[in-house]
Amino acid sequence: MEEKDIKKRLVELLEKSYSPYSNFPVASIVIDENDNYYEGVNVENKAYPSSLCAERNAITTAITGGMKKIKKIYVIADIDIPISPCGACRQVMSEFSTKDTEIILYGTKTDDELRYNEEEILPYSFKL
Ligand SMILES: [Zn+2]
Repeated sequence: MEEKDIKKRLVELLEKSYSPYSNFPVASIVIDENDNYYEGVNVENKAYPSSLCAERNAITTAITGGMKKIKKIYVIADIDIPISPCGACRQVMSEFSTKDTEIILYGTKTDDELRYNEEEILPYSFKL
């Protein structure tokens, strides 16, 4: 799937977000090391800490599907700048990234995009 099609699919996925408390839908797509494709949206809960971000939802779905490492992860929100993943998501991305992993960030109301690798998006991540 080409990146313009991935962005289009991400916009479609925003409709599946369960975000009645924040009204801030987020969607994510993970491509793994074997070019398998996984989707995720944010899923909120009235007990707020029980909520799950779209990125971690896509990553946990990918792990369930057999992913070992992220090749690319895309994230989008309905805003006028590229979305900025939270710290917890950055740490989870770090866990499953390689030096070649690409993190691509979009907003629906801008053509701007940001591209990072794991070290750029989470310098000095927690590692054992
Ligand atoms: Zn997050």
